[in-house]
Amino acid sequence: MPNAKRGRRSGAAAPERTKHVLKIIPLGGLGEIGKNLTAIEYDDDIIVIDCGLKFPEEEMLGIDFVIPDVQYLIEKKHKIRGIFLTHGHEDHIGAIPLVIPRLDVPLYGAPLTLALVEHRMLDTRTPYKPEYNIVLPGQTVRAGCFEVGFIRVAHSIPDSMAIYVRTPLGVVVHSGDFKLDMTPIGGTEGTDLASLAALGKEGVTLLLSDSTNSERPGFTPSEAIVGRTFEDIFRRYKDRRIIIAAFASNLYRASQVFAIAARFNRKVLLLGRSMVSYVELAMKLGYIDAPPELFVTSQEADHMAPNRTVVLTTGSQGEPFSGLVLMSKAEHKQIRLGDRDIVVISATPIPGNEKLVSNTINRLFVCGCDVIYERDLAVHASGHASREEQKILLNLIKPKFFMPVHGEYRHLVRHSQLALEMGIPTRNIFVLQNGDVLELDSGGKAKFAARVESGSVLVDGVMLGEFEGSLLRERKELSESGVLAISLVLNDENRLVAKLQIDSRGSIYGFDSENMRPDVETAVERALEGVRAGAVDRLSLPSEIRKKIREILGRNYRAYPGIIPLISIIGAGDTVQAQEKESVPKAKRTGRPRRARNQKKPAPERNQ
Ligand SMILES: [Zn+2]
Ligand SMILES: [Zn+2]
Repeated sequence: MPNAKRGRRSGAAAPERTKHVLKIIPLGGLGEIGKNLTAIEYDDDIIVIDCGLKFPEEEMLGIDFVIPDVQYLIEKKHKIRGIFLTHGHEDHIGAIPLVIPRLDVPLYGAPLTLALVEHRMLDTRTPYKPEYNIVLPGQTVRAGCFEVGFIRVAHSIPDSMAIYVRTPLGVVVHSGDFKLDMTPIGGTEGTDLASLAALGKEGVTLLLSDSTNSERPGFTPSEAIVGRTFEDIFRRYKDRRIIIAAFASNLYRASQVFAIAARFNRKVLLLGRSMVSYVELAMKLGYIDAPPELFVTSQEADHMAPNRTVVLTTGSQGEPFSGLVLMSKAEHKQIRLGDRDIVVISATPIPGNEKLVSNTINRLFVCGCDVIYERDLAVHASGHASREEQKILLNLIKPKFFMPVHGEYRHLVRHSQLALEMGIPTRNIFVLQNGDVLELDSGGKAKFAARVESGSVLVDGVMLGEFEGSLLRERKELSESGVLAISLVLNDENRLVAKLQIDSRGSIYGFDSENMRPDVETAVERALEGVRAGAVDRLSLPSEIRKKIREILGRNYRAYPGIIPLISIIGAGDTVQAQEKESVPKAKRTGRPRRARNQKKPAPERNQ
């Protein structure tokens, strides 16, 4: 087993300033697919590679996305010479709008990558304007003590690059997301094996390499295979409308659809906000070459024979509100699916999205259309290298040290085992987790150094707190048991001077709050007795009330709603008329008045 630092404890405190060591600091992307961010630090210089987001896990209720905790970088921002981007996928650029205003450092990336960053910046409406520096494969950039260079790699979005860094302690190569597609779309977008081999000849100290597909044997199929499958589908289903769902960012996929549509004399209807904006941007920048007359609006498509059109849309991951999902629910404004349609899901579910995709496929079949997905035909090709390709990269680069990146922990371990098979000694292989620090010294040795602060920041429209924060716990509790609000009016002697008001949301008591009223009253009275006896001080009264209600409801009903005590205290001169008059609200919001025992059925609400 290669070097792996277990446990999340920090090591011994680092010396105030460690001179002349090279630090590799992953702050995201290890042990997860998403929020890739790696810092490389030497003395007074830091460069950052990628700055991505991650989509939330199912239990992160209401969270839009997750970004890396960059506190470490904020504290050292005067040292940062730039953020260098491997490519324009969300898991590599998505955190920039939230991170770059706090770091205020230049950005470096290929033209499409930076255009996508700019698009995201506009989308989030931040007033901050980053300094964009376009770089191309073959170029190098001086960044403090580092020289940073770029090598073209094949991936599922144009302008993908590996990044190499010449440091005072040797060359570090970061593969970016890559595959070794020998028949790439456009013919010139393949991985530049010669430049990688040249680096290998020069001598590489450390390789960081994409681990996504380290469980897949063999080679990842070429993107061109997908084009051939599409052609077969267009040929076989001449009399049907074809609907293809794909990642909006997979512009190779889109350009293959356009070329084949033109050949089969079909017009293209683009649906889904991100599909339209990616294709527009790619056409503006020259990444897609398709005549404007190939495209039709949905109004134009309505007047055409269905088998003269192909619809390219979003929703290949079953994302709620995406084009395909709305169609499958018969909620799409422009498209109604039926038995004359053939739907192609041109993607594999990202881990975690399987259920969403499966539900979408089920609904599509219910609509009566035929659905083609990866089980049947090669309608998707991954953008990531499989094991044989990972071996080829290791072989070309011949690094002294190896660090797998971009993958769940099992992917990293499988990749490290592969490096071992390739002859890299165990002591030179490092499986890191986010926040671990790999330190290389001038004596040619590498070791784990003290961990740095790392983690996840949850974003819910605006930036929120830490992953472990109470927010998610509260949302989870609310989703399971609802909430009970109790309003108490007390006098100076800690006695109730009005009837308790009880209201609830999402709780079973919403339907029948009167039944448990005696229990709540008992619990509140017990808490007040404690205060009056001096056993509990008044400031602790809310938590005491929560505790007592929880005890009694738990015992009697096995129910644990969130409890919000709202306490008003009135002095001798105040009045409490409002509270006295108002009796208990009877779960009006539910529209279901409480049923008395001898009442046969509730009176219809609108007759009241
Ligand atoms: Zn990618
Ligand atoms: Zn990625």
